[in-house]
Amino acid sequence: TSKPIKASNISRCVALFITLVFSPVFAFNIMASLCKRDNIIQVTKKQDALGRTVLVHCFKHGIFTKSAGLFNIVNGHIGFCGVGLSHQLLKADQREILRNYQSIPGFFSLYQLHQNSGLAVSDAKALLIKQLTATTPAYLSLLGKSILCVCLFSMNLKALKNTDTMTLFGLNIHNVIMNDAVNWVTMQSDKKVPKVGFFINVNSINLGIKTPKFNAKLQQADALFADGSGIRLAAHHAGYRLKNNINGTDMLPHLCLSCVEQQKSVFLLGAKPGVAMKAAVNLKRAYPHLIIAGIEHGYTDNHKTITHINNSGCDILLVAMGSPMQESWILDHRDALTCQSVLAVGGLFDFYAGEISRAPMWFRELGMEWVWRLMQEPTKKFYRYVIGNPFFLFRVYILGLATKGERS
Ligand code: UDP
Repeated sequence: TSKPIKASNISRCVALFITLVFSPVFAFNIMASLCKRDNIIQVTKKQDALGRTVLVHCFKHGIFTKSAGLFNIVNGHIGFCGVGLSHQLLKADQREILRNYQSIPGFFSLYQLHQNSGLAVSDAKALLIKQLTATTPAYLSLLGKSILCVCLFSMNLKALKNTDTMTLFGLNIHNVIMNDAVNWVTMQSDKKVPKVGFFINVNSINLGIKTPKFNAKLQQADALFADGSGIRLAAHHAGYRLKNNINGTDMLPHLCLSCVEQQKSVFLLGAKPGVAMKAAVNLKRAYPHLIIAGIEHGYTDNHKTITHINNSGCDILLVAMGSPMQESWILDHRDALTCQSVLAVGGLFDFYAGEISRAPMWFRELGMEWVWRLMQEPTKKFYRYVIGNPFFLFRVYILGLATKGERS
């Protein structure tokens, strides 16, 4: 096994090498400052997540001005990866980490990576500890993923709108963090019919464009959540900054905790016989106080199913029948249901039953979960991903062109 990392040494060697390669750029920037008779370097004061003051170098004129940060890395004050510079931990957590772990500030961090790829960060302290106790390969992998993620999702972030809703392909999508999405689901409403929430991903957009009837159904939901890196990319092209990737699989643990806290019950409807039951057993193991009001597989008679759901007295109904069937089912039976909210959750129970394995974290950190799903079910998912994704990218490109005027 590898020894715990000494981040600064790795970072310093790599930074020195990049500095040599980039020396013509630096020479150009120095010349630009001399011509303007101005300072060459500008120093900005920042604070890292542990509350320490960090001085970050930046060229005052020229190109790639942030590359002067390499000098900070060469002199060992900042690492490529280290304690993040974009957020702060609670004071007590800062003290605990400073006492127990060796750390330097860094331009990239696991927290930042999760933020940039839209993963909901539930425990920033745990992420930092995981990063600080990582081995050298894990450090290098974090560095590689961070750079890739910046290239894929973080260009021109400052120019993006940070609104609470965004219109993509004619759909009004909620742009929220995971906590707000969960609160929306569990919050009591005074509506007579259940609140309906759908997760919008590449497949829903492609299906909606191909079948306008399905698109009209999506518009009837009370909330649409942005699910996956495809939607993040589309949002980016349309000029929106996506707060979190809100998908059923990531939401479920948060939802279960919230249900336990508020004594709300869930009903699992969908998937092949036995699968929802297995998922329920696993959920009960993870959240012993979770109230599972009922379970029903997704291949039954509708009338009996509705009676079963209503008799269970459940608060939240999760429907896992895959798109577009689950969305149609929910809207067709919405008026007959007495629960508080309904979510369409796709293959969620298959994941939680262990029928299909979830993509490893590093796939998700890079927004590549779909590659894993394709590897798991190549025949079933071939059309959806291999044909659907290029079509979607083309649509995103057109969307970018169409909204260019609005953004400039
Ligand atoms: N399913 C169902 N009833 C049906 C057809 C499908 O319950 O009539 C279930 C199927 O067993 C699977 C889920 O719906 O568990 C669809 O999963 P998929 O991965 O296709 O959903 P996605 O997340 O891709 O929308």
